[in-house]
Amino acid sequence: MMNNPNKIYDVIIVGAGPAGGMCAYELSKRSLSVLILEKEKLPRYKVCAGGLTTKAVEIISEDFQDLTENYTYNIHLTLNHKWGFSKITPFPIVTMVMRDMFDLFLVQKSVEKGSYLIDQTKVSEINELADYTVAKTDRGNFVSKVIVGGDGVNSIVARSLGLRNKRRLGIAIEGEIFPNNLSADISSYNGSLHLDFNVIPKGYGWIFPKRNHLSVGVFTTLPKIKDIKEYFSLYLERKSLSNNYTCSSLIGHQIPLGGSYEKLNTKRGLLIGDAAGLADPITGEGIYYGLRSGQIAAEAIYRSLTADSLSLNKYSSEVASEIITELKYASYIAALFYNLPLITYNLARKINKFSEAYVSIIKGETSYKDIFTKMPKYLGRLLYLIKNIGRCY
Ligand SMILES: Cc1cc2nc3c(=O)[nH]c(=O)nc-3n(C[C@H](O)[C@H](O)[C@H](O)COP(=O)(O)OP(=O)(O)OC[C@H]3O[C@@H](n4cnc5c(N)ncnc54)[C@H](O)[C@@H]3O)c2cc1C
Repeated sequence: MMNNPNKIYDVIIVGAGPAGGMCAYELSKRSLSVLILEKEKLPRYKVCAGGLTTKAVEIISEDFQDLTENYTYNIHLTLNHKWGFSKITPFPIVTMVMRDMFDLFLVQKSVEKGSYLIDQTKVSEINELADYTVAKTDRGNFVSKVIVGGDGVNSIVARSLGLRNKRRLGIAIEGEIFPNNLSADISSYNGSLHLDFNVIPKGYGWIFPKRNHLSVGVFTTLPKIKDIKEYFSLYLERKSLSNNYTCSSLIGHQIPLGGSYEKLNTKRGLLIGDAAGLADPITGEGIYYGLRSGQIAAEAIYRSLTADSLSLNKYSSEVASEIITELKYASYIAALFYNLPLITYNLARKINKFSEAYVSIIKGETSYKDIFTKMPKYLGRLLYLIKNIGRCY
């Protein structure tokens, strides 16, 4: 991880999350010179349930089995703590990791391919000039031909480049729950994913099993909510996870709700992952979209740097057609689901095809667009009304 401070890198990536790690990996594979600047010391704790959907697992070419904390084959869904159903899948529907080790793994793989990493270095501003960009940090300036913002939901790169002015955000809070003694048994959670809708307004609670503990949290699609900690505590109580358990690392964080078309690049800069606002507006899933946008960005940058003239516009249009369109349809379904959860829930429960469709979304075999366009017509009309009466969610 040596660095030459006088070098002009082909690409500087700000942020060593999954989006930044994947982008660095793909760029280094193509023999471009890459510097990753990360404000934290790696490995760092990252508040996240660490659930990798099948489609996320499938786009990672390196083997990360050693990092896997749990595989889930069983989804339990409830609404209002009352109605519930389960779905068993013959393959791991969600693979569990802890983000400190997962993110480090991706970055290490990119370093093996030739990237440089400088951690504990906070970027405070980006200056985009005609022929290069300058990243200002608390350890001096770093220069590159292209700058990538993989620095999360409150991206300094986005702000510096004047991108992403209209952001839609949800909020989540999560804690790591450890059993204190033998009477606190978590073995029944092994291999199972619990999603409990309506335990918080316009959102859900989750329990994700890890090797020796559970990652538990609540997420709302509302931009602001009073007392999110209260909802979290109530959720723990309802799940009998309060007494005999210790909650560590209780942290809240914003999640961008994707689905709005907007430009994600300038002449020499672009945004990926949460910095680009690419998370699922129903579930808050963002790792897959971070990884995938990192890949699309690497290919676009490579094409551009090896062409006669630099243009990153294609990146924005490719992300729009592959990711944002998908998230747009997800946002229509979110509007329906979070406004009329009982109807959607009953659909999912009664119409086997619907719940199978959801599983195949997680797998990456079906799109939200497919599901939306196959919805019964009356639901389409209902949705149209919801969207046109007021705020979606
Ligand atoms: C409670 C919670 C649970 C979640 N659970 C899941 C889940 O189970 N599955 C899923 O798919 N998604 C989940 N998400 C969403 C997921 O965490 C994000 O979508 C994902 O982390 C986005 O990755 P990223 O690489 O874009 O950004 P990040 O992971 O946020 O990484 C950004 C990196 O940039 C660094 N950085 C920030 N600013 C600077 C700066 N100025 N200078 C240098 N470095 C900087 C940060 O330290 C960080 O390392 C969850 C989110 C929350 C809040």
